[in-house]
Amino acid sequence: TPTRTNPAEFAKARQTPEKKSFMFVIEHLDPELADWSALEYRTIAKECRETKNQFTLCSGLQDFVVKAGGLSLGDVVGKGVEELFPPEERRVCLLDPQAKKELSPEDGDVFDGFLFGGILGDDPPRDRTSELRQKGYEGRRLGPVQMTTDTAVRVTRMVVQDKILLEEIPYVDFPELKLDEHESTEMPFRYVKGEDGGPVMPDGMIELIRKDADKGFDDFLQ
Ligand code: SAM
Repeated sequence: TPTRTNPAEFAKARQTPEKKSFMFVIEHLDPELADWSALEYRTIAKECRETKNQFTLCSGLQDFVVKAGGLSLGDVVGKGVEELFPPEERRVCLLDPQAKKELSPEDGDVFDGFLFGGILGDDPPRDRTSELRQKGYEGRRLGPVQMTTDTAVRVTRMVVQDKILLEEIPYVDFPELKLDEHESTEMPFRYVKGEDGGPVMPDGMIELIRKDADKGFDDFLQ
């Protein structure tokens, strides 16, 4: 332990070690690029820049690449993830709601990148992450509750880069969002709890949810 009699050692011990940078990779799996997904991807790209991590959005669907290219969603690549990061190299870990092991801070020493399914959440979940599991990536779970893709990236970063244990992160489950004076809706996901006690969501998301609620919330969730 550092002591007052050795100020140099004391100062050195208080320095935070340089944090490791990671790659966060999303393979977009939906046939369309919904406004909700675009907002999530833009938020992930912004948070990756702020935390000195790299963000790659990939898809084998050429239409998607053309559409996403002009939307400043980060580095968009028209290839499947297995072409960019072959599973046999074992550098990339899939965040998989069905994995047997939970993500831990030590996984940050083992893996250089983390892969997520670019899928709008569905309730009940349809296990579309299986499309990525089948490619052969090693998987880790982020607890038993379904998160939005941007939340899954945020939580992974807090665990592997900030070394916070999964169970120590404050969450808000299934928050109730007020749509107007009379109506509210429950979001069927887990979010990180923000400083104001509410769920952390991409800027503009509540407005989008309000707008889509007018169209029919059930259509929008699919
Ligand atoms: N309903 C989807 C399914 O059928 O797989 C879950 C999609 S979730 C909205 C989007 C992505 O976030 C998943 O593909 C996964 O990478 C990640 N994710 C969300 N919740 C997770 C959890 N509890 N554990 C591990 N990964 C999770």
